[in-house]
Formats: sequence, structure tokens, C-alpha cells
Amino acid sequence: MTTTTGSADFKHPKCYANTEGGCSTRISGEHFVSHSLIRLYTFDDPNVTIQHDNGFGVRHPVSPRRFVANVLCEAHNNGLSDADAAALKFATFLREIALRYQNGSGDWGVNESVEISGDDFQRWVLKLLATHAAGNALTANGELVKSPILDDSIHLLLNRAAWPTTWGLCVAADATNPELKFDPFSRIETATDNWWGVTPMLKNGDQTLIGGVVELAGVGFGLSLYNPGRELPEFNLPANPLRGSIRRPSVMAWELKGVRKQVNFTWDDHHEHKNITYTMQRS
Ligand SMILES: [Zn+2]
Repeated sequence: MTTTTGSADFKHPKCYANTEGGCSTRISGEHFVSHSLIRLYTFDDPNVTIQHDNGFGVRHPVSPRRFVANVLCEAHNNGLSDADAAALKFATFLREIALRYQNGSGDWGVNESVEISGDDFQRWVLKLLATHAAGNALTANGELVKSPILDDSIHLLLNRAAWPTTWGLCVAADATNPELKFDPFSRIETATDNWWGVTPMLKNGDQTLIGGVVELAGVGFGLSLYNPGRELPEFNLPANPLRGSIRRPSVMAWELKGVRKQVNFTWDDHHEHKNITYTMQRS
């Protein structure tokens, strides 16, 4: 973790992570999606602009520097840099392969793998969702929603609590669920323009943030901040965007003719972690 300069009993009123103090006095511009990722996908183009395409949040094209919400103090923002680094590592790995592969007309290459902290990556997914909730950039049915963030979510974001076994990150293990994407290599736009997305899951009634799906580099990551009841038949109903998923994988691999591109996620907990291999066919 990066050192923070917050003071133990100060709660900055604009910082959504202020539940137990530890805030610094300055509010920082927290990027809706990591600045390092924007740089990766825009090649540092000085003329590039970015905006939300749902009509809320940042509604007009702005420079990447200004694609921010003033919703975290500097101390809490700086403390989340490991999460940004994990997402950058994941996207860099898949993007390079996708650009070489060119939807199948290019080169798949040789076996490659990368190791990424699953704990940090999971916190990045949570941070993206929470920043959108705090920054008034979430919509449901085309309407702007004001979505409260649970204190439990903040504890998990700041590594103050262990994730309950039934909560957390999940990835596709059922090809028939279009809401959890798992093919980063057959849609080249996911390596160029259309490289991220966010769809929240909100509690009926008060619209509390209870999870969502965040896309990065053509891969959908589900997150639940509650027990979604995987053992129940309702879990597999079409209304559930997390249906057919597996929790906190230790390996996500894409295989074409025996050659694997593999992401190894490391986890600090002692839960069981499954592997998933997506077998590709050259079209
Ligand atoms: Zn703070």
C-alpha cells in the first residue's frame, strides 16, 4: 500500500471512503476509470477526449485528466494505487495479444502468462463501481440514480475486512450468458475504443450499490456485495447477470490450438479457487 497522509480521526465530507476517518484535508480528482488505463488505450494522444456515453456523469468530451469525480480524499485515493496497477497489468497483457491477433487474421503466438493479485483486481472493480455511485454517474432504466454505498463495501475497498466467501469477483463460465463477456480477442474494438464499461446492480427500493459488471479489455467481471445464492435455482435465471459464473478464479486462460494465454490470479484468502479455460476457434 502507498503511504497515506490522512489523519486518523478526520472524515472529509466529500470522501466516500470516510466511514472510519483516515482522510486527508484535500479532495483529489478520482478518475472514473484509472488514468493509467486511459493512457494505455489512447497512446498518450494529447488530443484524445473521453466522456460517459449514458448521458450522466461526465456528459461532454473532456481530456483524460478531467475525467474525474471529486469523491475521494488524497489519502484514500493514493491508498488505492495497487488496485489500479492490477487492472493495468491485466489490460496490458490482453491488449497486446489482441492487437497482434487482429480478430484472427494476425498471429496468436506462443504460450504466455501473467500473474496478477486477484485481491487488488477485485478492489479495482469495487472502486470503479463505488466511484461511479459516489460521482452520480450510474443509471438504471435510463434514469440517473443516487446510489448509497454500504459501509461494508468501504471496509472491503480499504482492506479493512476479509471478503465473505459468497461475495466478490466472478467471471464467465457459461457461454450462453451474454452479460459476462469472456472473449477479448474476437472483437478488436475491445483493444482500441470499446475497452471498458460499467453496469451496476442496485438493491430494489433504496438503490444501494450491491454489485455490478465491469468490463475491461473485452472481459466482464461480476462483483457481488451480498450472497447471490449460487446454490439456488433462481441464480441461473436470465434476470441474473452473474448466472453461470465462477467466483474468484485462480486461472483464466484462452486456448487456441493448444497454445494458451493465461492470467494467474493470486489470492490471500484460503478459499477454493477454480480455473477456467476458454477454448477458441479461429474464425
Ligand atoms: Zn478519505
